[in-house]
Amino acid sequence: MISVQDVYVTYEKRTPALRGVTLDFHEGEFVGVIGLSGSGKSTLLKTLNRLVSPSEGRVIVEGKDLSRLSFKELRDIRRGIGFVFQEFNLVDRSSVLENVLIGRLGYQSSVKSFFGIFKEGDYRLAEEALETVGLGEKIFERGDRLSGGQKQRVAIAKTLAQEPRVILADEPVASLDQNSGKVVMDTFKRIQEKHGISIIVNLHDVKIARAYCDRLVGLKDGKILFDQRTKEISDED
Ligand code: ADP
Ligand code: ADP
Repeated sequence: MISVQDVYVTYEKRTPALRGVTLDFHEGEFVGVIGLSGSGKSTLLKTLNRLVSPSEGRVIVEGKDLSRLSFKELRDIRRGIGFVFQEFNLVDRSSVLENVLIGRLGYQSSVKSFFGIFKEGDYRLAEEALETVGLGEKIFERGDRLSGGQKQRVAIAKTLAQEPRVILADEPVASLDQNSGKVVMDTFKRIQEKHGISIIVNLHDVKIARAYCDRLVGLKDGKILFDQRTKEISDED
């Protein structure tokens, strides 16, 4: 589904953040990318939807080389790839429902007035997404009234409303307490199992990664240190 081929990323003139990374992500997988801060996790995730462009190597998504796409083709590919950030990225003064509807922006044939543009189907998808993340009761709550864990679940619902094939999440539980983190990870797991959406998540907490992910990719200094099925990793590793 996504193929990363010998990718190097160099920011300005610094040491490369990725150095010859090669790996494939498959349909329906739950992959954890782990490694210390600065090991290149965030850079790797951002190359998958071309928020970051490789200096060398290629990223192929569903058979298409991302470096060869037109603006429109790249936009279509990005619709299939949800991105969840560590810091939620919500519009605090808007309602939960409005935040999730933002995930439907760009699906309309014409942009008229901001909230006049959504159709019934958009509302239905947004409400379903909020049900899926367990926030069906909170749709009219303001974004800034929610806890951190609830905000992150709204962010997940927003990407779900895009109807993605894969969700990329960059340290989605790093700002949360243990309990909220667990609820957020449970939400990803449910989305993978029920909707067959692939989840690729950066985590610095190896325990969480082992508990939830089917496969673990370890990065160190911009290189892959290991890439294994979680159940094949023994406790001593
Ligand atoms: P991680 O997600 O594992 O913390 P990152 O991919 O964020 O790792 O960072 C890898 C390296 O690239 C680090 O040395 C970081 O400082 C550097 N880096 C990341 N983003 C940028 C950027 N936009 N400009 C310059 N250097 C960056
Ligand atoms: P991470 O979640 O990987 O720890 P950070 O919080 O360090 O990311 O970085 C936040 C943003 O700043 C990211 O978009 C990252 O690409 C960028 N960034 C990280 N390191 C640097 C750097 N050394 N110079 C410029 N931008 C950076």
